[in-house]
Amino acid sequence: MIIFKSINSLNKYIKLNNNIGFVPTMGSLHKGHISLIKKSLKMSNKTLVSLFVNPYQFNKKQDFKKYPRNLQSDIKLLKKLKVNYILIPRVSDIFEKTSIKSIDIEHKDKILCAKYRPGHFEGVLAVINQFLLKIKVGKIFLGEKDYQQLYLIKKLVEKKFKTKVISCKTIRYKNTYAYSSRNNLLNPKKLKILIKVAAILKKYKYILKKSIINIHRNTTIIKNITNLGVKVEYLEVRNYKLGKKTSKKNFKVFIAYYIDGVRFIDNF
Ligand code: AMP
Repeated sequence: MIIFKSINSLNKYIKLNNNIGFVPTMGSLHKGHISLIKKSLKMSNKTLVSLFVNPYQFNKKQDFKKYPRNLQSDIKLLKKLKVNYILIPRVSDIFEKTSIKSIDIEHKDKILCAKYRPGHFEGVLAVINQFLLKIKVGKIFLGEKDYQQLYLIKKLVEKKFKTKVISCKTIRYKNTYAYSSRNNLLNPKKLKILIKVAAILKKYKYILKKSIINIHRNTTIIKNITNLGVKVEYLEVRNYKLGKKTSKKNFKVFIAYYIDGVRFIDNF
């Protein structure tokens, strides 16, 4: 395994390789990340994992500051997984003075997280754009846990790059909440709330599938979740393309919520 601290040094090394699988992450690795990495190891000649907490995708400074960072244990884990390359770039390495630090999204995409975290996806797309402009990778591996992010990156990549987007299933703790680096910010007691929220949402999905209740009437569900001491930011039912026209076979439940000021998202 080789650790690169700059894109230049990485590029000098990998010049001739044309089947690199790329797994961009913000570190504090967990089982969700591991599943992406394992898929890349299987599907690519070499696997590159980046550990980079992108300041431009945090719309609140405090959120960026308290985002968990575990560099040493991440490196240890990546070595154990037999990842080929790790990239730990500086902000100035990705975004030079002249780089675009934000890529606009269309008005119609300003829904769900884009509505509540203005500038977030603009920052996400900018960093992925910079990565793909600077590093030639065959495939990029992204998780469905961040479904809207996956959807927007797919649109960007299909328009501008030859890289193939590989989407990967959400990995959950015992079939309940999704693994997330932010879980580290909760104590074990508060983590149990995540299990309860997931149980409510899975039941909601089941009910929607059976069409027992009106598909968009979710006030009772929000109330049940709020009663757990959770602040729901949004709970919406949308189709796979994030539109509002849903059917029994084409829908997903999207949620964003806060526990103790920590923001979580999930989709079922
Ligand atoms: P992050 O480090 O949170 O930016 O995530 C890096 C990548 O891992 C993104 O493509 C995420 O969608 C994906 N990811 C995060 N959590 C999970 C999970 N529980 N299951 C599958 N993929 C995940």
